[in-house]
Formats: sequence, C-alpha cells, structure tokens
Amino acid sequence: MAARAAAARLGGFGTSIFTEITALAVKHGAANLGQGFPDFAAPAFIKEAAARHIDEDRNQYAPSAGVPRLRAALAAGWQRRYGQVVDPGSEVTVACGATELLLDAMLGLVDPGDEVIVFEPTYDAYVPDIQMAGGVARPVALRLPGWRWDSAELAAAFTPRTRAVIINTPHNPTGKVFSVAELEELARLCIAHDVTVISDEVYSELIFDGARHVPIATLPGMRERTITIDSMGKTFSVTGWKVGWAIAPPPLTDAVRATHQFVTFTNSAPFQEALADALTAPFTRSETDNYYHQLRAAYGARRAQLTAILESIGLPPLPMAGAYFLLSDVSRLGFASDLDFCRFLTAEVGVAAIPISPFYSSAAQASSPARAPMLARFCFAKREETIVLAGERLRKWRNFRSPLPSAEEG
Ligand code: PMP
Ligand code: GLN
Repeated sequence: MAARAAAARLGGFGTSIFTEITALAVKHGAANLGQGFPDFAAPAFIKEAAARHIDEDRNQYAPSAGVPRLRAALAAGWQRRYGQVVDPGSEVTVACGATELLLDAMLGLVDPGDEVIVFEPTYDAYVPDIQMAGGVARPVALRLPGWRWDSAELAAAFTPRTRAVIINTPHNPTGKVFSVAELEELARLCIAHDVTVISDEVYSELIFDGARHVPIATLPGMRERTITIDSMGKTFSVTGWKVGWAIAPPPLTDAVRATHQFVTFTNSAPFQEALADALTAPFTRSETDNYYHQLRAAYGARRAQLTAILESIGLPPLPMAGAYFLLSDVSRLGFASDLDFCRFLTAEVGVAAIPISPFYSSAAQASSPARAPMLARFCFAKREETIVLAGERLRKWRNFRSPLPSAEEG
C-alpha cells in the first residue's frame, strides 16, 4: 500500500497561480506582467547596506522578534506617520515576509472550528492559512462598481464563532484603498463582536490620485484588537529579501511570536539590518521630496504607461487607487475562463497576466459567477522596456484578432 502523502488539511491547495504563470512566462519568454514583483533594480542605498552588513559579519541568527534597532525604527516610523506610540520591545515582530506573519497570526489566534472573515477577491494565502489553523473561512463579497461589500451581508457574516477578520488595504488584486467610512463600519462590527483584525498593509506606500492609506489600527478602539502586517518587499523593491513585520498590542504580539519562534525562529539578519538603515536614513524620514514620494511618482508613470496600452487594445482597466495592479474585463474575448485567457496570453501572445478567479473560493465561483467577474490582472511594477514589449505584443495580437471588443462580442 502506498504511504499517505499529505495531510487532509492541505486539501485543495494545488499550486499557486503565481508559480504556474511565472513558470509559463519563463518557458515562453513572455513579458511578465503576472506575478507581482518589480523587474527593475532595487535602490543602491539598500543593496549597499546589505552588502556592508554581510561584509561586517552580521550573519548569525538575529533575535527571534527581530533586530532591536529595526524594531525601534519600525515603531518610530509608525508613531511618526500615525501618531500612535508603539513599544518595540513588546509590540513589534519581524519575520520572513508578510506571508509568514499571516500564517503566524492565524496559527496564533485560531482554534479548530473558529471562523475568519475574508473579503473576496482575497489574496491567495489567506484561505489556506485559515485552513492550516483548522479554521473556517467566511467569504464576504466585494462587488463592482467600487468593490464594495454589502453591509447586511457583512453584518450577517459575524457569528459567535467569528475569531478574526482579514482586511487588505491597499487591496490586491483590485487596487482598492478602503475609505475611512468603510473601515469604521468594519471596526464597529469587530468591537461589537469582540473580533480581532489582521490588517495586511504591504502596499501601504503605493497609493495614487491623492488617496489616503488609513490603518484600521488607528481608529478608536481598534489598536488593542489589530495585528497590522507590512513588508519591505514592495516599498524597497526587494521582494526576494522577505523581511516583514507585525505591529500589535502585547497579547496579540505574544500569539504571533509564539508561532514565529517555531516556524522560522528568525529571518535574514543582514537584510533586517539593511532595512533598519533604510528606515533611519534622512531621505526616508523627511516629509517632502523623500524616497516614498519618488517611489509613488515612478509608479504613477508606469501605471499611466500600462493604462494607455490596455486602453488602446480595448481592455481599459478598472479604476484603482493603490498597489501595483490593473484589472481588465476579459469576458468578451471568447475564452471559457479567465485562467484559459491568461494561459493563452502568456504562452501565445508572450504577455503574462494573472486571472482573478484564484482570488475566490471555489464554492463562491461555482454558486455565483457574478461574484467572480472575468478579469485579468496586469502588474505594472515593471521596467519601461518590459511594459513597452508587452504593449507591442498585445497590440499585434489585437490587430490580428480584430475587431476590438464590441457589442457583438458582448
Ligand atoms: N499580502 C499581499 C496582499 C501581497 O500581495 C503579498 C505579496 N505580494 C504578500 C502579502 C506577501 O508579502 P511578502 O512578500 O512580504 O511575504
Ligand atoms: N503577492 C504577489 C502577487 O500578488 C505574489 C507573491 C507570491 O508569488 N506568493 O503577485
């Protein structure tokens, strides 16, 4: 008899859509607008800092909670931005990217049978994290236009078993930046039902068009019930370094640290040191003309470049205000699914994109196609040349398959 291979709790995980599409992109030499990672150089200051720390032999285990000067810099940064005092000793934890902290939080909070509310479309790791902790995901739909939840549906999702809510703002894949009014509505429910919030804010620095990023932890009554998770991957264009952090009050920090110590214990010491340098450098601390302003300006230009391309091929992107993805409706191109379309685009056109359906739980897709609109996600964290190449290929394809989407295709 063959040995049993995997635990039941891994049921239905499959392979991440990012792994699949990136492998297909590499195989076909596609311009990769799929997986969300910058294909341009990371800033010299942070690379030089990491090289220096390796050279100076900061190469052994960092403390499990994170390098103290990094935790101090993160706490000071939070206070500067949001006016809340955070204790680096008991309220900040550094780990292997936001990905690990999401799992740490879930394992640290959720008992078997507990329910966790997620908003759909939902980042691909959340539901597996809940499942690995033995919890049950309760999806609440965000619907177009505006990717709003229905207030009655949200209120009804809270039950006596609800342990936590995961919110992501700015939101992957929609680019939605949740408004203060929306966050207040969610906060009222969480306080009324004594529910913990896990707030994934990895795109906190990538906001456009005057939108304002508001951490839910800064609303009245929320600091004591929120774990805020962020990462240096997007902000410093180093997704491969995997340094993330969680800010939470001591009882919630204890839960995160308790799991973190046995999941990875600690992550790369020199990269933690380099992030501490970056966060304390004058150009990340001044209010004007600083690194973050330049980052947003550069991303604004990339967004405009890709928007123009998508508009020119009849796939205008939906409005967005944060993160680095554009979503286009691909329902009128004759494909059976968004996955089929993205596989075709990657392999045959030479432009990789991510389908949105993996951001929905399968039950929701099956029961209500209106809930999972047929959209493709294009990432604009890419060099100008990559976007230009993608544009050339997309235009060639659309001319070849003309006419452009029109009433008779719809
Ligand atoms: N949350 C969201 C919403 C993301 O998009 C990502 C990755 N792009 C992560 C978490 C993972 O972040 P990290 O690379 O720091 O693990
Ligand atoms: N967060 C990235 C994205 O949305 C992917 C990260 C990953 O591959 N897990 O594209």
